[in-house]
Amino acid sequence: MEMQADDGIAIVGGGPAGLAAAEVLAGAGRSVTVYERMPSVGRKLLIAGRGGLNLTHSEPLPAFLARYHPAGSLAEAIAAFPPDALRAWCEDLGEPTFVGSSGRVFPRSFKASPLLRAWLGRLGAAGVRVLTRHRLVGAEAGRLTFETPEGVRRVAPRATLLALGGASWPRLGSDGAWVPLLEGQGVPVSELRPANVGFTVAWSEVFRSRFAGEPVKRIALTADGLTVRGEAVITRDGIEGGAVYALSRLLRERIRASGEAQLVLDLRPDLSEAALARRLGAPRPGESMATRLRKAAGLSPVAAGLLREAAGLTLPPPAPDLAALIKSAPLRLHGTQGMERAISTAGGVRAAALDARFMLRERPGTFLAGEMLDWEAPTGGYLLQGAFASGRAAAAGMIAWLKEAEAS
Ligand SMILES: Cc1cc2nc3c(=O)[nH]c(=O)nc-3n(C[C@H](O)[C@H](O)[C@H](O)COP(=O)(O)OP(=O)(O)OC[C@H]3O[C@@H](n4cnc5c(N)ncnc54)[C@H](O)[C@@H]3O)c2cc1C
Repeated sequence: MEMQADDGIAIVGGGPAGLAAAEVLAGAGRSVTVYERMPSVGRKLLIAGRGGLNLTHSEPLPAFLARYHPAGSLAEAIAAFPPDALRAWCEDLGEPTFVGSSGRVFPRSFKASPLLRAWLGRLGAAGVRVLTRHRLVGAEAGRLTFETPEGVRRVAPRATLLALGGASWPRLGSDGAWVPLLEGQGVPVSELRPANVGFTVAWSEVFRSRFAGEPVKRIALTADGLTVRGEAVITRDGIEGGAVYALSRLLRERIRASGEAQLVLDLRPDLSEAALARRLGAPRPGESMATRLRKAAGLSPVAAGLLREAAGLTLPPPAPDLAALIKSAPLRLHGTQGMERAISTAGGVRAAALDARFMLRERPGTFLAGEMLDWEAPTGGYLLQGAFASGRAAAAGMIAWLKEAEAS
C-alpha cells in the first residue's frame, strides 16, 4: 500500500494517556488521529471502572508525588495537571467526584463508562479521528506502519505520540509488543515487570481447597520494615489484594534478588501481643485450638488457617507463643504472579531516553506518554493520574516543539 502523507498528528494507543494527549492537541487546533489496535478505545479505563474508578487521590501534592518510583517520575507533569485539575476535568464532563474515606477520589457514579462516553463525544466534537483495529507494527524514521483488517496501512504524520500502555491484562490491548519495536531502534527500555500484583505461596492442599477466593480482612502486612493495613485475598496459588499490592514493589524486587521473600502478617493489628496473650491464657478444659483461636483471639476461619500455614501446620499451645505468632505470622513467598493478573506494569522506556518534553532524544518528533514509560506507583488513583498527566504533558511538549519547528 502507498504511504499516506499526513501533516496531522498521530497518537497511537487509545488509553487515558493517548486520549488526554488528543484533547490537548485538538484544543491547540491540531489535526489529530488516534490509532488503536482494539475494536474500541479505553478498555483498561473501563475495567478500572469495575472497582469504582479510583481516578486520583486527595493527599497533599508532596505526599502524592512521593508515591511514584523511581523518585521524581512524572513530578513536573503531575504538578502541571494535579489531582484537583483532574477532578475539575471530570466534573466538566458531567461526572463530579468525591473523596472516599481512604482519601481516594472516585466519580460519584462509581463508573467509567459515562465518563468515557462524554469524553469521546467531546473529542469527536473537537475533530479528533479515532481509527480502531489499527495495530502499530513499525515506527521507523517517523513513518508508522499499521496492520488493519483491510491490510497494511502506512502513514507519515507531522509528529507522533506513542501511548501504548504497559503489558498487564494483555487481553485489553496493551501487550508490551512495542518493546522489541523500540529497542530495535536503540531506545533503552527497562524490562517490563508486573506491578500491583500478587505472589505465590506453597499452600497446603487443605488450606488451598478450603480458602481460595476468601478475603482476609483488617490485617497488617509487613515487608522489609514497611507495614500496611488493609485486606488480602487468598488465591489457589498465593495471596493478592490491596494490602499485598501496596508492598508488591518491595516484595517483587526481593524475590528478583533472592528467589523468595517474607511477608509478615499481623492477624489482629488492633490488639497488642500482651492483650492477646491474656485472652488466650485461660483456655477452657477440653477446648479445641480452633475454638480458642475463634473465641479468645477473634480469628476468622481463614485467619486461623493462615496461622497454621505460617506455623508449619502445628500451632504452639502456650498463650505467649500463640499471641506472638498471631501478631507476626511469617509467610514465605516463592514467586511473583504473572503479567496477566497484575494491575499495572513497572519498567518501560527509560527517562534518560526522553527530553523534558517527553520527546525521544534520538528521534525528534516522536513523543511518549503513559504506562509505557519507566515509572510505577501503587493503586489509589496514582496510575490513572500518571497516565492523564503524562499524556497532557507530552502533548504540550509536542505543541511547543511544533511551534519551534514551524517558526524556523
Ligand atoms: C483491573 C484493573 C483495574 C485498574 N484500576 C485502576 C484504578 O482504579 N485507578 C487507577 O489509577 N488505575 C487503575 N488501573 C490502571 C490504569 O487503568 C492504567 O494505569 C492506565 O489505563 C494506563 O493508561 P495508558 O493510556 O498509559 O495505557 P492503556 O490504558 O493500557 O492504553 C494503551 C492503549 O494502547 C493500545 N495499544 C497497545 N499496543 C498497540 C499497538 N501496537 N497498536 C495500536 N494500539 C496499541 C492498547 O490497546 C490500549 O488501548 C487498573 C488496571 C487494571 C488492569
